[in-house]
Amino acid sequence: MNIIYLDNNATTQVAPEVLEEMLPYFSEFYGNPSSMYNFAGQTAHKLEEARSKVASLLGASSEEIVFTSCGTESDNTAIQTAILSNPDKKHIITTRVEHPAVKNMGEYLSGKGYRVTSVPVDSKGRLDLDYLYKNLSDDTAIVSVMWANNETGVIFPIEEIAQAVKEKGIVFHTDAVQAVGKIPIDVSSTSVDMLSISGHKLHGPKGIGVLYVRKGTKFFPFMIGGHQEGGRRGGTENVASIAGLGKACELAAAHMEEENTRVKALRDRLESELLKRIPNAKINGDTDNRLPNTTSIGFDYVEGESILLMMNELGICASSGSACTSGSLEPSHVLRAMGVPFTAAHGSIRFSLSVYNTEKDIDVVIEKLPPIIQRLREMSPFCEAGNLKLET
Ligand code: PLP
Repeated sequence: MNIIYLDNNATTQVAPEVLEEMLPYFSEFYGNPSSMYNFAGQTAHKLEEARSKVASLLGASSEEIVFTSCGTESDNTAIQTAILSNPDKKHIITTRVEHPAVKNMGEYLSGKGYRVTSVPVDSKGRLDLDYLYKNLSDDTAIVSVMWANNETGVIFPIEEIAQAVKEKGIVFHTDAVQAVGKIPIDVSSTSVDMLSISGHKLHGPKGIGVLYVRKGTKFFPFMIGGHQEGGRRGGTENVASIAGLGKACELAAAHMEEENTRVKALRDRLESELLKRIPNAKINGDTDNRLPNTTSIGFDYVEGESILLMMNELGICASSGSACTSGSLEPSHVLRAMGVPFTAAHGSIRFSLSVYNTEKDIDVVIEKLPPIIQRLREMSPFCEAGNLKLET
């Protein structure tokens, strides 16, 4: 079956050029980059080449790039290093719509006696900046706000927030896992202290991440061990994946324009055609400030999981805005924070595109999804009274 992959915020296809870049580091070049002899020099050189490619995509310098194992490790490290650097401060600020890598770290710290402020969002997923600024205090160790939301694609005004936070002398971290490679980022023109990346979200391999750490930021390693990564992360570097991530960053810079024109146009066509053909459907999130590849659409009176299963039969991959927890279908914390009504939150589907998607992919979804929603609504007890009809 032909797969139509529209779940690129979950993970992406490894670019063929990335795989090619990685392969020699599984076979010919297996030296430990910390070893002294010339044979290992090849791997050490590749490591530094990749570091400089990552730095270049971010507008950072190479010394500010720390390789980690994933976005989650980068997020955890940023928060932990800030609280260890500020042992007297017992308050952290984050948002209600963070990825679990930040959200659950906050909950963990709350259980350890920290006061955690979660900034609310409005119905379009936009942050309440006044609430954030009002809660900054002398006791705040770190503010962590994602650059773009993984479910809705809503982009937050990170440059503005970072500046306001830095003016108070507080450490600022951003989880930019979904933003890097999709929108231009230049840390040198911001006050961001730390920023997280994950390789598998930008056509790199899984199991590799980066934490950007601005020069001069106090830092305590999360992984305590050898002197690797300038003493900031113990453990022999994952050279093959790092080489792949370097290549992925180079490609992301080259594809940035396509992402923001062709991919965005595909997303917009998908969205407008679905809204035209399916009644009682609505976009979740601020359409004026969104990643170019993402749309989250709420279809009233159907369950997201049922839609996913029926699309799965046709080889269409997307994800829902619900998480199946302990037998009950709980709408996602992001949609709940936005106050999306129960009926739409349950039937929300996220489509996330990439440069590998084609017009044909979009044609198939536009043709196949409306009858799926119609069928599910016909089976739904909510619809008998609602008399919902598909516009053909
Ligand atoms: N942060 C965001 C916004 C994400 O979307 C993800 C992955 O979905 C992560 C962090 C975690 O990244 P990783 O899977 O590399 O740990």
